[in-house]
Amino acid sequence: MAEALFDVLVVGSGAAGLAAAVTAERAGARVAVATKGSLQANNSSKAQGGIQAAFGPEDSPEQHAADVMASSHGTADPALVAALTGDAPEAIHWLEELGCTFTRENGGYRLARCGGATQKRLLQVGDRTGHAITKSLRDAWNGGNGTSFENAPLSELEPGPNGWRARVGGELVEAGTVVLAAGGRCFAVALERGELSTNHPNATGEVTQLALALGADSRDLDALQYHPNGGSWPENMQGYSIPETTRAYGAVLLNADGEEFTDSLGARDVVSQAIVDEVGKGKGVETPDGRPAVYLDTTRIAPDDAEISLPYMLRRYRAAGIDPLAEKLLTYPVLHYQNGGLVIDTDSETTLEGLYACGEIAGGTHGRNRMMGNSLLECVVFGRRAGRAAALKAAA
Ligand SMILES: Cc1cc2nc3c(=O)[nH]c(=O)nc-3n(C[C@H](O)[C@H](O)[C@H](O)COP(=O)(O)OP(=O)(O)OC[C@H]3O[C@@H](n4cnc5c(N)ncnc54)[C@H](O)[C@@H]3O)c2cc1C
Repeated sequence: MAEALFDVLVVGSGAAGLAAAVTAERAGARVAVATKGSLQANNSSKAQGGIQAAFGPEDSPEQHAADVMASSHGTADPALVAALTGDAPEAIHWLEELGCTFTRENGGYRLARCGGATQKRLLQVGDRTGHAITKSLRDAWNGGNGTSFENAPLSELEPGPNGWRARVGGELVEAGTVVLAAGGRCFAVALERGELSTNHPNATGEVTQLALALGADSRDLDALQYHPNGGSWPENMQGYSIPETTRAYGAVLLNADGEEFTDSLGARDVVSQAIVDEVGKGKGVETPDGRPAVYLDTTRIAPDDAEISLPYMLRRYRAAGIDPLAEKLLTYPVLHYQNGGLVIDTDSETTLEGLYACGEIAGGTHGRNRMMGNSLLECVVFGRRAGRAAALKAAA
């Protein structure tokens, strides 16, 4: 079978893969994207709440970095965190150049405060932020001259005479450098555990296993994150991630007696644990199908905030027969995100030369506990860094 030749092969078409592919192509490389399903099929498109960047009057990349380190309980890699937060404002402007329009008010961005943050720092596109970002990236990618292999999962990867040789679907591909952007594994883990997950069915983790088999280093792979607010009822909302922006705009967690039992805007792991503990104490409530839950009192959200920043959540629940502005929601933590992953440096290079990783497949940026809004940011910042570095190395 003839091998297709490229400078850079990107594996995965979420926000990280597409940011890498667009950047590598614009740096002059011949680029291919190979992805398991269609270009649209990924977790990034499902992201709702928003993306962090320090634009507030009292804010700075250093403050953003301090919040990341605190939320990670000191386990994140400070060099990666400085890259994440330092590049953030420029990453937002880049997305805007690609056509992504963030929600604005009073002449600036509409910023929300997310769990673990000391400042309002979350930019949003309503509550379809991931959809808007990936659409802009896809349009930019489709508008260039790169090659897309859809329905082409990576199944083999090995060093080749000119860099790397890969099998993607039925194709054999040779590339100078490879960028792994195949996301996390929470869908597969939830299935094994018989739990609910917010994730897309393509989040299965086999590409991480291929990299580990080649000898790439990993970190914190055991640290999986539960989103504090999975939907618990009605049935068709089970596994839906109720955006953290509900809490940013005033919703609070309540136990069966209507008491607040935790800081609703604490770090994710702390809030999730508090819910599990409250239910363990017998102070939770039960869904009609017997699942554990607590209340998320969304009736405290101002209708204007909800209409501007939570329209999709409102639509989903109202279609399911519940108006979140009139009654409390039932919620319980749900498997959501792979905090750890492949070890990378600030160019997104793994411990194997010419093999890059960005987005949820990489570890270190969040340590063992990610803040909301920093994953989409990580995809764009480290996707761009990976694309630039992979194109440069392939040309050297
Ligand atoms: C419901 C939901 C809401 C979220 N909300 C937010 C939010 O508001 N803010 C935020 O920052 N983060 C949020 N996140 C997290 C964030 O969206 C993801 O962590 C991030 O988008 C992951 O991007 P990625 O590009 O690394 O991976 P993905 O977007 O998951 O893309 C991975 C790609 O790799 C492909 N792939 C998988 N295996 C293979 C293979 N073998 N071969 C080839 N391709 C493969 C997949 O098909 C997919 O195209 C949310 C996540 C979910 C699920």
